Amino acid sequence: MVRYWGDKFITAYKSVILNGVVVLKRNRTKPVNQRHPWIYSGAIDRVEGDPADGDVVDVRDTGNNWLARGYINRQSQIVVRLLAWEQDEQVDVAFWQARLERAIAARQALADDPATDAYRLVHAESDYLPGLIVDRYGDRLVAQFLTLGMERWKDELVGLLVGLIADVRGVYERSDVDVREKEGLEQRVGLLWGEEPPEEIEIVENGHRFLVDVRQGHKTGFYLDQRENRARLPAFCAGAEVLDAFCYTGGFSVYAAAGGAAKIALVDGSAPALELARRNLVLNELSEPDVESIEGNVFNVLRGYRAQSLCFDVVVLDPPKFAPSGRELGKASRAYKDVNMLAFQLLRPGGVLFTFSCSGAVTADLFRKIVFGAALDAERDVQVIGHLAQGADHPVALTFPEGAYLKGLICRVG
Ligand code: SAH
Repeated sequence: MVRYWGDKFITAYKSVILNGVVVLKRNRTKPVNQRHPWIYSGAIDRVEGDPADGDVVDVRDTGNNWLARGYINRQSQIVVRLLAWEQDEQVDVAFWQARLERAIAARQALADDPATDAYRLVHAESDYLPGLIVDRYGDRLVAQFLTLGMERWKDELVGLLVGLIADVRGVYERSDVDVREKEGLEQRVGLLWGEEPPEEIEIVENGHRFLVDVRQGHKTGFYLDQRENRARLPAFCAGAEVLDAFCYTGGFSVYAAAGGAAKIALVDGSAPALELARRNLVLNELSEPDVESIEGNVFNVLRGYRAQSLCFDVVVLDPPKFAPSGRELGKASRAYKDVNMLAFQLLRPGGVLFTFSCSGAVTADLFRKIVFGAALDAERDVQVIGHLAQGADHPVALTFPEGAYLKGLICRVG
């Protein structure tokens, strides 16, 4: 009987039985047709078949037209993350291999650059691999599996990565992120393949050396997304007094020192981060500038500087995500405004502020308005002389504007 049906019909039949079908409500198909990778529960009319969470499903409209294919997780607000928009594109090992190859090929210029050996290899939705992050630190890979759908393919994906990247010595997992809970997953940290990473990995970024703790550092160990922005800093730093607020392990300070900064103030709430920042300055034989590290809350430290009438030529403000979601937007906007106002007040005439927001909910336009409000409150004339974003290894697919999370401005104070 099966033979009689013909191949096409069998494939379609199998996909119903094996994969299940998510049928969208009428008038809710446009984002899918525009290749946005997320389907929220509100857009779904019904689920046919009996797919388990994590399974690959087909997406159809009420007229039974095939639209796309993705993986399902009913425990998440984002019930389906889409993977394919061509009906003959089956989600199998060859499919993942092609996607990984495409992401890796897009980083070829970085792979060929001897001055940089740490960068993002896979940037999730924007690399058409929703829920997967892979960062490269020299001969180590560090991965985050953010969704159940990706968790299912972990062994295959790790095997493929090891095969596709020459000279990999180990793959480490840093899936210790809150978003896993929204997927019904526990957090996990540990070795996935090969050798355990050393406590500190030495990387090179634009010719500058850094020690990275991939086991316990933030994210996968280092803020790789700031690489291109850091490279803009040295031009402003010759002879300058620089304040690196929210400095973490000194990413910006190493560049400031390389640019000839006379004095650097490192400020962060984390003592281990400050310790590593100092060691990173020494590692680059940049112990010449006068370096001061202050462990404390940036808001209080900056108010203290203002009270003492201390001034700087360059301030870097790279705070953590003040708005993890849209719900915190009001509070986050006030915090961004406050800290930017303090920074403007501490700058000498002609001084320069590098200011950032990594909150996805704060758009570039909103951020510029917040910084404008801060300049008004500080009673300073401010010109924007540079617009900054996450580096090219953290692309933003045009189909997925949510991927544009990091925005920054270079501001000159009159
Ligand atoms: N600029 C860094 C990355 C900054 S990440 C780089 O280029 O690598 C944000 C940092 O802010 C973290 O190190 C965190 O410890 C610190 N932090 C968060 N809130 C803080 C606060 N209120 N005061 C001081 N530091 C804070």
